[in-house]
Amino acid sequence: MLEKKYALVIHGGAGTMSPELMTPEVERDLRDGLQRSLDAGHAILRSGGSSFDAVAAAVRVLEDDPLFNAGRGAVFTSAETHEMDAAIMDGRTLKAGAVGSVSRIRNPIDLARAVMEKSPHVMLAGQGAQDFARELGLEIMADEYFSTEQRWQALERVRASKAEPLSDADRHGTVGAVALDQAGNLAAATSTGGNTNKRPGRIGDSPIIGSGTYANNKTCAVSATGDGEFFIRAVAAYDVSALMEYSRMNLGEAARVVIEKVAALGGTGGLIAVDREGNIALPFNTTGMYRGFIDAEGKSFIGIY
Ligand code: ASP
Repeated sequence: MLEKKYALVIHGGAGTMSPELMTPEVERDLRDGLQRSLDAGHAILRSGGSSFDAVAAAVRVLEDDPLFNAGRGAVFTSAETHEMDAAIMDGRTLKAGAVGSVSRIRNPIDLARAVMEKSPHVMLAGQGAQDFARELGLEIMADEYFSTEQRWQALERVRASKAEPLSDADRHGTVGAVALDQAGNLAAATSTGGNTNKRPGRIGDSPIIGSGTYANNKTCAVSATGDGEFFIRAVAAYDVSALMEYSRMNLGEAARVVIEKVAALGGTGGLIAVDREGNIALPFNTTGMYRGFIDAEGKSFIGIY
């Protein structure tokens, strides 16, 4: 019997740290974090588990890692708080769950999943979402859990910068995963702290189905990262799928066209995508994108630049 194909792609945000902050130790820790995320998703896919479980597991690992802007490592808002967004989508059923602007939830991706599986809604935001997490007994952390020195310094740099261009890594970051499982099902998940110094209440593209996150078994699964406002206006993730479905583009072409559209609007960033054959695409227009994959041939890769 032929072995069934599967593939997993993850990202830890588009845009890299400025060279003086990227020490060999930080780079090693970032690569380790990406590897652990890949391993968590891969273990599920290899043993015949669902792409939906795999993307949730891969994102969870990055949410717990203080180096990535999601969960524990979420950036500070202008009010010195943390507000996180997350979404997950199942390409088989087209069911999706999302949360916007939530605080103190250890793993926003679990809450997004719960919105899909345990409520009649697709998206919950703010206090209502947090109350739902509490009702379900999801893990709630003290504010300090999310207050990392690295993000505090980024807030100070952003506040002090005014006109100077800042590194993308200071401004934002996100984590995400897309996967194809052995049953041929696609899924996507994205989680973020949004952008540094954002106004409280701001919600980015990550939890908006079709902008930062989308999965459809007919076409592909997509998770985006970058200037959220531009990805929202470009309806980026769904556009990759639509170009495949209606214009018969292949995954690589569709992904590239969408990143060009985002760039034409003035936005920077990237996306990861996988199609139903296990082809993958990881275009970005920033200096780098923290990323990794295991493709359908079993080739594994971790990269930053
Ligand atoms: N897209 C995210 C947001 O706008 C940030 C990022 O991916 O860098 O919230």
